[in-house]
Amino acid sequence: MQTQLFIDGEFVDSLDGSTLDVHDPHDNSLLATIAEGREADIDRAVTAAKRAKSSWGSMAAADRGRLILKLADAIEDDVDYLSLLESRDTGHPVRDTRNLDVPRTAATFRYFGGMADKFQGSVVPVEQGFLDYVVPTPLGVVGQIVPWNFPVMFTSWKMAPALAAGNTVVMKPAEITPLSALRIAELAAEVGFPAGVINVVPGYGATAGQRIVDHPDIAKVSFTGSTAVGRQVARGAAESLKQVHLELGGKGANIVFPDANIIAAVNGTAFGIFHNQGQACIAASRLIIHESIAEEFLEKFVALAASIKVGDPKDPSTEMGPLTTPMHRDRVLSYVEQSITEGGEVLLGGRAPSNPALALGSYIEPTIVRISSDSRAACEEVFGPFMTVHTFSTDEQALEIANSVDYGLGGGLWTRDLSRAHKTARELNAGMVWINSYKRVNPGSPFGGMGSSGYGREMGFEAMREYTEPKAIWVNVDAQLPPFYPRNANG
Ligand code: NAD
Repeated sequence: MQTQLFIDGEFVDSLDGSTLDVHDPHDNSLLATIAEGREADIDRAVTAAKRAKSSWGSMAAADRGRLILKLADAIEDDVDYLSLLESRDTGHPVRDTRNLDVPRTAATFRYFGGMADKFQGSVVPVEQGFLDYVVPTPLGVVGQIVPWNFPVMFTSWKMAPALAAGNTVVMKPAEITPLSALRIAELAAEVGFPAGVINVVPGYGATAGQRIVDHPDIAKVSFTGSTAVGRQVARGAAESLKQVHLELGGKGANIVFPDANIIAAVNGTAFGIFHNQGQACIAASRLIIHESIAEEFLEKFVALAASIKVGDPKDPSTEMGPLTTPMHRDRVLSYVEQSITEGGEVLLGGRAPSNPALALGSYIEPTIVRISSDSRAACEEVFGPFMTVHTFSTDEQALEIANSVDYGLGGGLWTRDLSRAHKTARELNAGMVWINSYKRVNPGSPFGGMGSSGYGREMGFEAMREYTEPKAIWVNVDAQLPPFYPRNANG
C-alpha cells in the first residue's frame, strides 16, 4: 500500500514529515499512517505540474489518449487489489467496489482516453475573406478536491477529462479515504505517464485543500463535496479569479406514481437509497409516493430493506457496509432523533445493528422514516441509509414536494405513462433524471446539478469543455481592410 504523497513522478514524504491516520470503518482500527500533504507540498506539486504542462499539453492528443487507455487497462488488471483497498478504506462492500466502482473507474479513463483526439475545435462562418477557427485550449494546472464517498470513481471522473484535454493535475483526495487515488497514481507511473502530469497530495481541507484554492498558478479548481465547503471554495477562488466547478450535496426525489410497476420501483428505490450506505450525493433520499399505493409499496419496501445483509464490507456476500466514520454515523443517527421530535414515524431501523461482530464499526441499519416533507430530515442532506417517505394525491403535488428543497442534483420517477414521465422529468429541478430506474451513470452522460448542488458538469463532452478554454483565432485570408480613418487613407 502506498502511504506517501505522489509528486513529480515519485512517492515522497511530506516536507515537514507530517502524517495522518486512516481507519478501517468496519472496526475503526488503524489501516494506514500516510504522509500528510500541507501547503508547501501543494506548492511542490504545483511547481511540478506547471513544469509538465507545456509538454503534456502539446503532445499529440492521440498519444495522450493512448497513455490514458493504458491506465484504464492497468486499473482493470488491478481490480482485485484496488477493489479491496477501496472497500477497506471506505467501508463500501467489496461486492460493489469490484463490480461497480473499479470497472466504472476503468471505463471512465477509457472513455476519455478515446475522447482525447476526438474533441475538436470549430470554424465559425464569419465575413468573406476571413477564417475564424476556435481551438479548445488546455487551462494549464488544475486543482481537484475529492470527497470520501466514492474516492476511486471520483478520481477518474476528475482526472480523466482534465488529462485528456491536455491539463496537468494536482489532486487532493479526502483525508479519510486517500488510498485508491494514490494507487491510481502508482499505476499511472507504471504505464509511463511523464513526471508532474499527475500529482496526488492527500491532506486536510483547511491546509492542503485551501492552498489549492488559493494557489495563483492553478487555473481551475474542481471541487466535489459539501455545499458549505463549496461556498467557501467559490469565495476563496474569487480572489484569484480562478475558474470553479462545484459538485455539491443533494436530496434526491424519487416519485412513484400510481401506475408504476411496483416490484421494479421497490427494487430501484432500495438501490437508490441503500447503495454505498446512502452516502451518495444522488441518493434517493426522499420517497414521494402516491397515496393509493403507499401501503402496498411500503410493505414490500420495508421487507426488502430489512432483508439487506449489513456486515463486514470484505465479505463478498455483504450488501451494506459501515458508514465511513463514527462521526458521520453519529450525525446520521442525530437525524433519527430529530425526526422523532418532529413527529416522524420510524418504519425501519434508526439504530446500530445488534450483531456483536459489528459493534466496533460505524454501522446503521437501513432506516425509513415517514415524516412531513417540510421537516429538517426531509430537507437537509443526511448522507446515510436514511430515507424519508411522503405521500401525494396529484401530480402537481408530487412535483411541489420534489422541488421544495434547495438542492437540484438527481431525481427519479416511476410510471408507465409516457406523457407523465416526460412532463415530470422536464419539471423536476435536477441535473439528472431517471425514468423507471435510479442512479444510472455513464462516462458519456453529463453529471452535475443546480441550485445548492453546484454548477458545472463532470463526464461527457461537457467535462472536456470544463477543462478547456475556447480560443478564437482570426486570419485575414484575402479581405481588404476598410480604411478606418479615411482622411489618412493614402498616408
Ligand atoms: P467536505 O466538503 O467536507 O469535503 C470534501 C473535500 O473538500 C475533502 O477532500 C476535504 O478535505 C476538502 N475540504 C474541506 N474543507 C476545505 C476547504 N476549506 N478548502 C478546500 N478543500 C476543503 O465533503 P465530504 O464530507 O468529504 O463529502 C460529502 C459531501 O460531498 C456531501 O455533501 C455530498 O453530497 C457531496 N458530494 C457531491 C457529489 C456531486 O457530484 N455533486 C458527489 C459526491 C459527494
